[in-house]
Amino acid sequence: MIEIKELHKSYQMGSNSLHVLKGINFTAKEGELVAIMGSSGSGKSTLLNILGMLDVADSGEYYLDGVPIKDLNETKAAKYRNQFLGFVFQSFNLINYKSALENVALPLYYQKIGRKERQEKAMKYLEQVGLKEWATHLPSELSGGQKQRVAIARAMAAEPKVLLADEPTGALDSTTSYEVMDLIQKINDQGNTILVVTHEEDIAHMCKRIVHLKDGVIVEDKKIKQVRVTQNV
Ligand code: ADP
Ligand code: MG
Repeated sequence: MIEIKELHKSYQMGSNSLHVLKGINFTAKEGELVAIMGSSGSGKSTLLNILGMLDVADSGEYYLDGVPIKDLNETKAAKYRNQFLGFVFQSFNLINYKSALENVALPLYYQKIGRKERQEKAMKYLEQVGLKEWATHLPSELSGGQKQRVAIARAMAAEPKVLLADEPTGALDSTTSYEVMDLIQKINDQGNTILVVTHEEDIAHMCKRIVHLKDGVIVEDKKIKQVRVTQNV
């Protein structure tokens, strides 16, 4: 599903250059649930943003579902982004003046889906994250955990194959974090490939594989026995 080879990325700051990713090799098959760990500043977000086509690498290869992601024009890039990728961020990134339902429906608008179908689909995904009753509420009326569940519903509404989550529990207390991870595990059970950036060990162990970034390279990559938040029936 995701394959990267010898990926490099530097940031230029004036005459200085910061070499953040120094030859990353990584493959994730369909249905994997991978935690990406590493200390602050180790390049986790940089890597996730490149995988999410929000940023480009300086060199290396990237294949997403077999498609080489290189030198794509913005239209094509946007098409693949919409088709393959969903994003969840630490800070939720909901639109404050839109209801939960409208937030979830927004990506469907960009997919040119008609109003009625948008509403129905958005409601279906809100229901899946347990927030049907909160459809008309504004983000300011929701708890942090609820906001993140709306953000997850929004990401899933576009039916991406891959979900990229950058510290999705970073702004949440541990009980709420586990609720969000429960949801992520259940989405993964349905076959979606998910990458979760985290620096919390307990969150990482709720994934199926842990990749450790240090000094710009992957220093450890291991399959683990997944800790389930709730048992599947
Ligand atoms: P992490 O998510 O692991 O905390 P980041 O990928 O955000 O790390 O950042 C890696 C390094 O790159 C940090 O030192 C950060 O300051 C630097 N960095 C990130 N984004 C930029 C940018 N747009 N311009 C310059 N430096 C950046
Ligand atoms: Mg980060």
